[in-house]
Amino acid sequence: MCLLCNKVLGNDAVKPSKLQDHLRRCHPDKTEKDLKYFQTLKDKFQKRPTLDRMFASTSQRNDDGLRASYNNSLLIAKSGNRILSEKS
Ligand SMILES: [Zn+2]
Repeated sequence: MCLLCNKVLGNDAVKPSKLQDHLRRCHPDKTEKDLKYFQTLKDKFQKRPTLDRMFASTSQRNDDGLRASYNNSLLIAKSGNRILSEKS
């Protein structure tokens, strides 16, 4: 993925020539930057909190699914408690 625009590129874009093509097309102002600039970007990206990276890589739909299953387990826990209290 591109560290400048956070855009996920296709599999064939991993090739250096494709990356250079993307850089020229989308970030013409960055083509003159040296390798150190990109290594700093990469370092910053990798030092981001894990949770942040996790949510960045999952889609909104997956996030909703996670929330739904969390709500489901809450419901189960609540109804389980009710059944227990009704018996006593
Ligand atoms: Zn980009």
